[in-house]
Amino acid sequence: MYVCTDCGNLFSQPGWSKGKEFCPACGSRNFIEAVYCKLCHEYYIPAADELWEYTEYCPDCVNSAEEQLREAILQLVDPDYIDLLRSEYDDLDYIMSGGTKKEQTKSEG
Ligand SMILES: [Zn+2]
Ligand SMILES: [Zn+2]
Repeated sequence: MYVCTDCGNLFSQPGWSKGKEFCPACGSRNFIEAVYCKLCHEYYIPAADELWEYTEYCPDCVNSAEEQLREAILQLVDPDYIDLLRSEYDDLDYIMSGGTKKEQTKSEG
């Protein structure tokens, strides 16, 4: 599947004319391969600066997973243990403080 970055149209077969492929909806040649999220079964558009690092999960699902993990931990784990875990695990601290995988990847360069 492809997605047009100009109009957002999702299509399986680009138009073809005079040796050029184009979006069937708007005629733009700015389209990229859409990525299929294996959790919500929707296609999504990887951000332009993340084409090389997209995952099998869309940003919405990643955000929901992080949010659920945070809430679950806060309900199930004693606050004293959370403090302990924070001092022992960088990643946990990052997630618990509201950070996202995306931000973490960026901050690591
Ligand atoms: Zn288009
Ligand atoms: Zn998804």
